[in-house]
Amino acid sequence: MVCRHNDELEALVREAKKMTGRGKVADYIPALAEADENDLSVAIYYTENTCLSAGDIEKTFTLQSISKVLSLALVLMDYGKDRVFSYVGQEPTGDPFNSIIKLETVNPSKPLNPMINAGALVVTSLIKGKSAKDRLDYLLAFIRRLANNEKITYCQNVAESEYKTSMINRAMCYYMKQYEILHGDVESVMDLYTKQCAIEMNSLDLAKIGCVFALNGKHPETGEQVIPKDVARICKTFMVTCGMYNASGEFAIKIGVPAKSGVSGGIMGISPYDFGIGIFGPALDEKGNSIAGVKLLELMSETYRLSIF
Ligand code: GLN
Repeated sequence: MVCRHNDELEALVREAKKMTGRGKVADYIPALAEADENDLSVAIYYTENTCLSAGDIEKTFTLQSISKVLSLALVLMDYGKDRVFSYVGQEPTGDPFNSIIKLETVNPSKPLNPMINAGALVVTSLIKGKSAKDRLDYLLAFIRRLANNEKITYCQNVAESEYKTSMINRAMCYYMKQYEILHGDVESVMDLYTKQCAIEMNSLDLAKIGCVFALNGKHPETGEQVIPKDVARICKTFMVTCGMYNASGEFAIKIGVPAKSGVSGGIMGISPYDFGIGIFGPALDEKGNSIAGVKLLELMSETYRLSIF
């Protein structure tokens, strides 16, 4: 499928790109620091299988926190919401995504939601499979079905770079293991989590996955109900309440679409029943969201009246 370049969208990208200079590429995962901070691209994938784009949408990036929505969908499908929400809560935090503080101050010490690192680590620990390889293959197969792209895989360099340096995430795992929220071997959870975060795609793949959510779990191309309706609804709700970390409230007011960002600079957005949006702009604001990506979504929301509120 060919994505058509669109001039109106390109003009919005040009405008939003002015923000990149005010942001900074993530470097706490060393391999992410190699990204070009001036990049900004967007794809819009419509439910009738047409697509518009602007910027270089061939560029690939790793999902990072965007993967949290997808792993959540998978475990909700396998375990059901009662079981999953016995391990992880449903409330926004107001703290940065990698904050550890609430684990100690909230009792029982269960992470507040699956969009922050602590919650996502628990979700990842639940992914089914007999071996580490099985679990990764299972997650990858699900993501390939969502994007309808068999070629999707993870970036070894980014995964290794995070695995070697991710001590706060490790600390959270051990903390939760102590309180029997997280089970299993911490190093294998970290191995799977860092590979999950390093799953790589381009804006078109991401927009297509957004479109699956826009259609309540039904794939626009294959017609397959890849995610049950109720699970898609739960994921979209988390995207509204917690998807942009501790900027989710302001984002809901200014832009008003379900969205999930990652520290690679990716953002997946959803215009219900209409289209999915995939954005890549690696320069981040101080909360870890793509600075130009958020600006672009703001311009798109104004231009196309996207707010669901
Ligand atoms: N892999 C990253 C981490 O755990 C994901 C964080 C993010 O994208 N906000 O730190």
